[in-house]
Amino acid sequence: MAGLATAIRLAVQGFAVSVYEKNDYPGGKLSAFKKEGFHFDAGPSLFTQPQNIAALFELAGEPIADYFIYQPVEIACKYFYENGNIVTAYTNPEKFGKELEEKLGELPGAVEKYLSESKKVYDNIGAIFLNHSLHKRKTWFNRRVLKALGATKLSYLFKNLHQHNQARLQTAEAVQLFNRYATYNGSNPYKAPGMLSLIPHLEYNEGVFYPAGGMISITNTLYELAMKKGVQFHFNTPVQKIICNEGTARGIVANNENITADIVVSNMDVYFTYKQLLNDSNKAKDVLKQERSSSALVFYWGIKTTFEQLQLHNIFFSEHYKAEFDCLFKTKTLYHDPTVYINITSKMEARFAPAGKENWFVMINAPANTKQDWEAIKLDARKKIIEKLNRILSVGCGIQIDIESLIETEEILDPVTIEEKTASYMGSLYGTSSNSKLAAFLRHPNFTGEVKNLYFCGGSVHPGGGIPLCLKSAQIVSDLIKNTKRAH
Ligand SMILES: Cc1cc2nc3c(=O)[nH]c(=O)nc-3n(C[C@H](O)[C@H](O)[C@H](O)COP(=O)(O)OP(=O)(O)OC[C@H]3O[C@@H](n4cnc5c(N)ncnc54)[C@H](O)[C@@H]3O)c2cc1C
Repeated sequence: MAGLATAIRLAVQGFAVSVYEKNDYPGGKLSAFKKEGFHFDAGPSLFTQPQNIAALFELAGEPIADYFIYQPVEIACKYFYENGNIVTAYTNPEKFGKELEEKLGELPGAVEKYLSESKKVYDNIGAIFLNHSLHKRKTWFNRRVLKALGATKLSYLFKNLHQHNQARLQTAEAVQLFNRYATYNGSNPYKAPGMLSLIPHLEYNEGVFYPAGGMISITNTLYELAMKKGVQFHFNTPVQKIICNEGTARGIVANNENITADIVVSNMDVYFTYKQLLNDSNKAKDVLKQERSSSALVFYWGIKTTFEQLQLHNIFFSEHYKAEFDCLFKTKTLYHDPTVYINITSKMEARFAPAGKENWFVMINAPANTKQDWEAIKLDARKKIIEKLNRILSVGCGIQIDIESLIETEEILDPVTIEEKTASYMGSLYGTSSNSKLAAFLRHPNFTGEVKNLYFCGGSVHPGGGIPLCLKSAQIVSDLIKNTKRAH
């Protein structure tokens, strides 16, 4: 995502841009595949902040509607709890607030208040953290920034997200629901700062969207736009080295050939960029001072029937969330009762599954790869997920069914394959986690003071995280390059 967006932005600035990609397809983690009549989006499934994509089209002077169609969805997610409670998270804050009041017993107005605070934090602090390099003086010495910082409570940094949520919500279920947002950048809500409470603002105040054609349309549309702007793509071409000379990046080596360039931008995980492309083990080690983000185990299941009780996005929560995160980050094992996420795009586009069937993307958070026995873990996880779904569908929905008997076709993605496919160290989905108070500041910058004309974009560097933030990293990189060009 970040590589494609950076290529578009730099092409618009007038650079002749070449993209070197080791795979034979664009999009990295955001890819898709078909199996036995089922279409599966392979990676990201939740789409927020379409304005980041619209901005690329505006910049490129192309009408977005000719390339990319998306629509808001009314329900952000349906939540199922072990005690049989079921909550529908409407993207309308008032409706969502009412739902948590009626189903869980939250106080009237509590959710709306939470979300309006979330918006304030996003508008004040998020706008600075996400749109600018935190490692340039210019970002900090400006009146608007100082005012925003002055208006921000220190508790957003010094309380963790769980404490933040506990102070604002009455019920354990609502706290768990809002704790879940730490996982949007692969973090632990019992460690990550309360600042992450700005994430729900994106879903409930701005909205959740669905791109026509599934998530893969995002990759396809950016690829098409990049081609239109003259970007040259070289697939099946791993970059072997970044050429540096006198402290300046001069180009890359690919196919054992030197390719010169005025500017090099790496969208590879910054750990591997240092380790493999710059041959700098010390800098690579520095990156690891920050805990890696979590990874994922994904089961792509073609399901023989349809479930009217399920939505596009569904969560089946574990009963003891804290214990689940202790397993993910402390013991780096699979929790016996994992939280299960199911995404079903055939709810939006029936053609994505054969008639009367559904395409289930079933994901659990997994620890980053530290050479666990993934074959054993996958078998165990599959069994536990099925038991959990059978149990909750029975308790919450009164459906007596064995999910196992409905799986018609299956593929599995694990942390090892995530690392192999996209060179994401330890299979971490988002590079480093935000499991510390100052995580936002400690994330690797989008440039390095040691090598001129070398920049970094993507989930493993500032501002980190999922698609919206990868697209923001592209904007930060292109602004840094534009400012450097101006200065010369
Ligand atoms: C299962 C899963 C679920 C997710 N769910 C969501 C979600 O719901 N919402 C969300 O916003 N985000 C989600 N994410 C995260 C999101 O996918 C990523 O944050 C984002 O796609 C990462 O983009 P990126 O720009 O960092 O690059 P990546 O997707 O990591 O791509 C890097 C690219 O660089 C290429 N590359 C690496 N090394 C080299 C080399 N040496 N030479 C040439 N090419 C190289 C790779 O092949 C790849 O194409 C999910 C991720 C996964 C895996």
